[in-house]
Amino acid sequence: MLDAQFFRVWMTAMAAAVEREAARLTDLDSAIGDADHGSNLQRGFRAVAAALEKEPPLTPGAVLALSGRQLISTVGGASGPLYGTLLRRTGKALGEAEQVTPQELAQALRAGVDAVAQLGGAKPGDKTMLDALVPAADALGESFEAARAAADEGALATVPLQARKGRASYLGERSIGHQDPGATSAALLIDTLADVAGDAA
Ligand code: ADP
Ligand code: MG
Repeated sequence: MLDAQFFRVWMTAMAAAVEREAARLTDLDSAIGDADHGSNLQRGFRAVAAALEKEPPLTPGAVLALSGRQLISTVGGASGPLYGTLLRRTGKALGEAEQVTPQELAQALRAGVDAVAQLGGAKPGDKTMLDALVPAADALGESFEAARAAADEGALATVPLQARKGRASYLGERSIGHQDPGATSAALLIDTLADVAGDAA
């Protein structure tokens, strides 16, 4: 079972991972965007970590909802509202339970991913964070490690794609040949989840 502490550790570990990977995320965004993806997520996840420490929520759903609100209110770029929606909607789907099963998390994440698709109008293959999130949500029903592999593979598979959504789409064919920054950070989010689940096991 996964409790509020598990979700706080996940979000805090993601904040640390973003600090570690910020330069790489910004480099990827400088190739096909405006070179701010790393700093956007740094600002957002610093706020998430601070909010969780200040007043630790007591349920898994509340941890994700608070984290999502922080991302929406602190990140100016497209990724803030999108990741914010992912976490808020996933949190909402978990309800008020004090503990949830990995299966329940998989179902909730699917609802969160659907909300991202609805908000941004993107689908898999458009070279966005969804290219990592959709396969990860599908595979999470199987295991955390399967979700990690699916997300990493999905992020890598964005390299040959042409962007159809977001800033990178303005580049047309010139977006081909670069890994999508948002798919890369989404894989980081799922990697972190699998790490935390592995440590907890
Ligand atoms: P901005 O594009 O506003 O500078 P970021 O650089 O923080 O914001 O985030 C860019 C990432 O956001 C992209 O790499 C892509 O994965 C994701 N993204 C952009 N638009 C969409 C969308 N409509 N749906 C899903 N993801 C998107
Ligand atoms: Mg950007």
